[in-house]
Amino acid sequence: RVRQHHQPARTYHVTDVRNVIIIGSGPAGYTAAIYAARAQLSPLLFEGAVTAGGALMNTTEVENFPGFPHGIDGFQLMQNVREQATRFGARFAQAMVTSVDFESHPRRLVCGDQVILARSVIIATGSGYREIGLPNEKRLSGRGVSWCATCDGFFFRDQTIAVVGGGDSAVEEATFLTKFASKVVLIHRRDSLRASKIMAERAFANPKIEMLWNTEVTDVLGAEKVEALELRNTVTGEVSKRDFTGLFVAIGHIPRSELVTSQVTLNEEGYVSVEGRSTRTNLKGVFACGEMLDWEAPTGGYLLTASLASGWRAGQSILTNL
Ligand code: NAP
Repeated sequence: RVRQHHQPARTYHVTDVRNVIIIGSGPAGYTAAIYAARAQLSPLLFEGAVTAGGALMNTTEVENFPGFPHGIDGFQLMQNVREQATRFGARFAQAMVTSVDFESHPRRLVCGDQVILARSVIIATGSGYREIGLPNEKRLSGRGVSWCATCDGFFFRDQTIAVVGGGDSAVEEATFLTKFASKVVLIHRRDSLRASKIMAERAFANPKIEMLWNTEVTDVLGAEKVEALELRNTVTGEVSKRDFTGLFVAIGHIPRSELVTSQVTLNEEGYVSVEGRSTRTNLKGVFACGEMLDWEAPTGGYLLTASLASGWRAGQSILTNL
């Protein structure tokens, strides 16, 4: 049943009240959908308009997920989780939620010309790539500057490229890029990596990877595409220039919390604040899970398994909310 709801500027269709709406289609959102669906709450999950599945869709092999002794492709893993949720009755909308009103009861979500009403909402919009913050990094984005080795690595065949960062992402990207590039220089601002030992050792043993310690990128140079980087030694302060045709930025993530900024409590970095290690936000019936939670942010320790676990918690929490 759909009835008309009049707004001054446009007409919205207001839906019936649903038990659970999930916003976001990464591991946390899909897992929440499995649990809510198994509780027969018929969750509807908004996957986004362009891509679904979250950051794992761009990952190569996931080696450390329990139960897959030979690893599993990130894309396949997400497809499996989605299929599992579908089997129990979860439904999916390939559309963006553009605004939310969590002050009203039931909660209201706007998607195109529809207002969707929900008793409970699970926010699982994840995180996005962190940028260095240089004006030329943005200008040359897609012209040599990239945040995704699996998406763009192919374009750098036999070239000398740079990866910036010192965590698992940077090391993983650098290692993957050696499939294409003739040389990959891993630029890190400190003198040791944050990445896990096994991944770091793999990078150190790779003859195509050169480590550039105590160095930060201070500018990206090139008129139409990346030609060189301006670098600064963080110990001596010395500034230098070095030729590269590509720059992959892998310096962590920032929460994608814009949709709910004025609605739920966030910490100063923009992560959604929840009660203890629960998934409860400051609003009753509104939950958050995955990479946007503040309890995972301080350690940078969010992992696929942590996202799945918080998705599970959010899915379970719904049961006590209805
Ligand atoms: P991360 O662990 O937070 O590392 C970010 C790195 O970028 C750090 O080395 C940091 O330097 C550096 N950095 C941050 N801001 C910077 C800036 N403005 N300029 C230059 N460098 C900057 O992030 P991540 O590597 O994306 O990993 C996130 C989480 O996902 C981690 O828990 C990681 O273990 C996990 N992950 C796991 C895998 C895997 O197991 N296959 C793969 C990818 C990611 P400092 O070290 O100086 O702080």
